[in-house]
Amino acid sequence: MHIAIIGAGLAGLSCARELLAARHTVTIYEKHPDVGGRTRTCETEVGGLDFGAQYFTAQSDAFQKRVAAWRRAGWVAPWSGKLVRLEDGKAQSAGRAQQRLVGVPGMGSLAGHLALGADVRLEQRVNAIEAHGDQWLLSVEADTVPIPATAGPFDAVILAIPSDQATLLLEAAPELGAKTAAMQMAPCWSLILAFQDTLGLAYDGAWVQGGRLGWIARDASKPQRRPGEHWIAHSTPEWATEHLMEDPERAREKLLKAFHEITGSAVQPVYSAVHRWPYAQALQPLPGVFLWDEARRIGVCGDWFDCGLEGGGRIENACLSGMALGNAIA
Ligand SMILES: Cc1cc2nc3c(=O)[nH]c(=O)nc-3n(C[C@H](O)[C@H](O)[C@H](O)COP(=O)(O)OP(=O)(O)OC[C@H]3O[C@@H](n4cnc5c(N)ncnc54)[C@H](O)[C@@H]3O)c2cc1C
Repeated sequence: MHIAIIGAGLAGLSCARELLAARHTVTIYEKHPDVGGRTRTCETEVGGLDFGAQYFTAQSDAFQKRVAAWRRAGWVAPWSGKLVRLEDGKAQSAGRAQQRLVGVPGMGSLAGHLALGADVRLEQRVNAIEAHGDQWLLSVEADTVPIPATAGPFDAVILAIPSDQATLLLEAAPELGAKTAAMQMAPCWSLILAFQDTLGLAYDGAWVQGGRLGWIARDASKPQRRPGEHWIAHSTPEWATEHLMEDPERAREKLLKAFHEITGSAVQPVYSAVHRWPYAQALQPLPGVFLWDEARRIGVCGDWFDCGLEGGGRIENACLSGMALGNAIA
């Protein structure tokens, strides 16, 4: 079959690899100039930084096997940074946890490896999906082409994008659209900071209790990162929801103030920037692993399925969902 996948995040790429292994023809459409979605590495004037997903864990046997292969290939490595919980400026032990892993030399490199050999059409946004007999046509928009073009026909189409975005494209498959519409994803603001010298903090990452920020991490504490005092901070979903439409400069000022308050450091950064993620994480994941309409050959996968795990909205959910849908079709 010739199968179109919308979205080159980890779900779409995991799905594509299963389908390619089963000798299907796959074309992936990605609206960004790079693959990886929410695990992309942000290229800044101080180097590449993990501004989305920070690390991942592997609960399930299936994902543990996959991760072991990635480790052997040198695509990912353990991160043994000192992580704490910060409450009223006081650091407390974060307790024992599963092994945390990161892509090397950046989180985005994992998607880059998974995309090798796949036909990924970058900077191509899919605006609509339309049934054409028993096949599918996509309406695709690219900055380089003045009018929306049609791609296809495809024998099957897979949406590997956040649920809110999937709902907008599922007019042609309303029974799937009704299920994706029941899901809601929470936003997040990322703050990227670079300092001239070390801040001298006694930890590499912290979950923050109370306030605007929920997480901060020292990027260079991860393996194979560029040296330098680079910090990433993530807002809480509650703050991002309330300030979703905030002017980026105002958001940057407010989050930087929060960073100074929680770290107790008054040092001003030499570089700072913010990024808004409108669909960052599923707070209440959908039970199941994927959606697939066998008769019409249209499916949906992503990190917002629980995949039988505790919680959702994580890299493991995205990969398991994509792999399972690819296998089911293959
Ligand atoms: C700030 C932040 C911090 C996070 N921290 C962690 C963490 O520490 N650990 C963890 O496990 N997970 C974390 N996550 C979640 C993790 O990043 C996601 O679970 C995972 O990356 C989701 O992968 P996906 O393929 O399902 O979706 P995505 O990564 O969102 O991929 C979807 C892709 O589809 C593309 N797309 C969307 N619409 C269209 C369209 N119409 N046409 C073409 N392309 C389209 C997008 O550009 C994107 O590349 C974090 C996420 C965020 C935002």
